[in-house]
Amino acid sequence: MTKSFFTFLTAIFSIGLLAQNKTDYWQQHVDYTMAVDMDVETFQYTGTQTLVYTNNSPDELKRVYFHLYFNAFQPGSEMDIRLQTIADPDDRMTTTDKKSRIASLTDSEIGYLHATSLTQDGNKVTFSEEGTVLVVDLAKPIAAGAKSTFNMEFKGQVPLQIRRSGRNSEEGVALSMSQWYPKLAEYDFEGWHADPYIAREFQGVWGDFDVKLTIDKEYTVGGTGYLQNPNEIGHGYETPGTKIKKQKGKTLTWHFKAPMVHDFMWAADPEYIHDIQQVPDGPVLHFLYKDDAKILENWKKLQPKTMEAMQFFSKNIGKYPYDQYSVIQGGDGGMEYAMSTLITGNRKFGSLVGVMAHEMAHSWFQHILATNEAKHEWMDEGFTSFISKLCMTEIMDYEKENPFEGTYKGYRNLALSGKEQPQGTYADRYALNFAYGISAYSKGSIFLSQLGYVIGQDKLIETIRKYYDEFKFKHPVPNDFKRVAEKVSGFELDWYLTDWTQTTNTIDYGIKEVTASENNTKVTLERIGLMPMPLDILVVYNDGSKETFYAPLRMMRGEKENAYAGIERTVIEDWPWAYPTYDFEINKPMTSIQAIVIDPSQLMADVNLENNVWQAE
Ligand SMILES: [Zn+2]
Repeated sequence: MTKSFFTFLTAIFSIGLLAQNKTDYWQQHVDYTMAVDMDVETFQYTGTQTLVYTNNSPDELKRVYFHLYFNAFQPGSEMDIRLQTIADPDDRMTTTDKKSRIASLTDSEIGYLHATSLTQDGNKVTFSEEGTVLVVDLAKPIAAGAKSTFNMEFKGQVPLQIRRSGRNSEEGVALSMSQWYPKLAEYDFEGWHADPYIAREFQGVWGDFDVKLTIDKEYTVGGTGYLQNPNEIGHGYETPGTKIKKQKGKTLTWHFKAPMVHDFMWAADPEYIHDIQQVPDGPVLHFLYKDDAKILENWKKLQPKTMEAMQFFSKNIGKYPYDQYSVIQGGDGGMEYAMSTLITGNRKFGSLVGVMAHEMAHSWFQHILATNEAKHEWMDEGFTSFISKLCMTEIMDYEKENPFEGTYKGYRNLALSGKEQPQGTYADRYALNFAYGISAYSKGSIFLSQLGYVIGQDKLIETIRKYYDEFKFKHPVPNDFKRVAEKVSGFELDWYLTDWTQTTNTIDYGIKEVTASENNTKVTLERIGLMPMPLDILVVYNDGSKETFYAPLRMMRGEKENAYAGIERTVIEDWPWAYPTYDFEINKPMTSIQAIVIDPSQLMADVNLENNVWQAE
């Protein structure tokens, strides 16, 4: 992709669209009120949770499920066994000799989360743990449209940092508290999603959180939610100029509220530096990072880049809807959370900006457009990779001809390896982490960049913005995105969604033959791969002039606009996909032609580029 194409992309990103209302859609709602006490000596905590659950479904519910994610960090857990049995385990979770780090955790190092009591509307319920899932048989069914209140007491222990959450990370962050509370599983039109915690990907119920956290007063805390008592807490949250009254006792109680989120993360460390930046016409940004000479300069330079990224995504996808976003050092790489991210801090500058941009883009693709990541991992990782790459190209002034070159290379590598599984594979059920990674991130990103080739770049941008408008604060599924693209473009795109995401069919078109026919030139194209595509064909003449031909795919029932402004285009006959070959004529002698190229943009993920070019001898 050329720089001018990119400028074009951003120019049309600003088109606004009216939202349409869906009438048959419903989603569950939660209101959490939690109070948690953290002991920073033992890393054990206790808590109470009042959960008001609104059953907006048309179904009566007799059971509910909670996630108890910390139970994954125990020897013998499903996460541990999967780590020991997958051929290419995540090296963050294994020792240098490829042994599971979970397997060797001692009793004081493991993670756990247990409900110690639970009532429903004041009545005792039966509950049992199945690994990382709490199964609750209700005292009384929850009728369609009714509310029910659960009161739970729970206790937990923060595991040593293994994956995403934990204590005492390699970089010395005390507490990375993600997936830390009993979290109600989501129930939607597909039923329950009480997925065990094995490797990755989450899904949560939309709702409002009110969290009180009591912790050693030396610790600075950040995460999801607006602090309600900043002038009591201080730690950089106070109104500038406020004098903070010295608190008696060893602890402080931090009170956070987060409206309309589906997760709640926090992190704490006694050595955090806390910087604040206001994005013009945007949220307040909080930066929390260790007072460590190695990283200070990069974390200062990161702040204006974070502001630019926030503006880029708000402009190109839709306005960031919260008043706060926090970039926090913690975790074991980078992971997105509601209104915040945890990223490791000791990185080269480009990598630090890159991980920030990726995780921030997830604020849209997962935390606002809350797809079920376990089932449709490409819709959050892929879409995030696509938009964050465009963001990095702009804010870091990368001079790449085609920012997606590596993405396509990675995909081809997988597609030709024989190890590819359909993108619709459940995130934990890939045979290899390698196949999951390329499928979710690279092939998912290409879903969008290639869709721009299929329907036109302006229509792609319109589709993304309209998708945001229609599905923010909901749980969109693949067909929702496809329908938006169809309505925006006027094309039928079922074939695109099914072939790309539900099969491992590949795209391979080639120029089979070029022959002279009197004063004209006959070009024979062939379809070798099973996945069909419309074709842009560029012809370059000896005098340097160019023209393009466009062979629409018949089953799209339409033609995109000329993708190459300034080059004359001829729309040739539709190519019905079942025909393996296709002929067209160029009204110029063969001797005048220098080269013929299928898809010069290379946005079509053809797995064999060699047969896409014909050159005169
Ligand atoms: Zn991601």
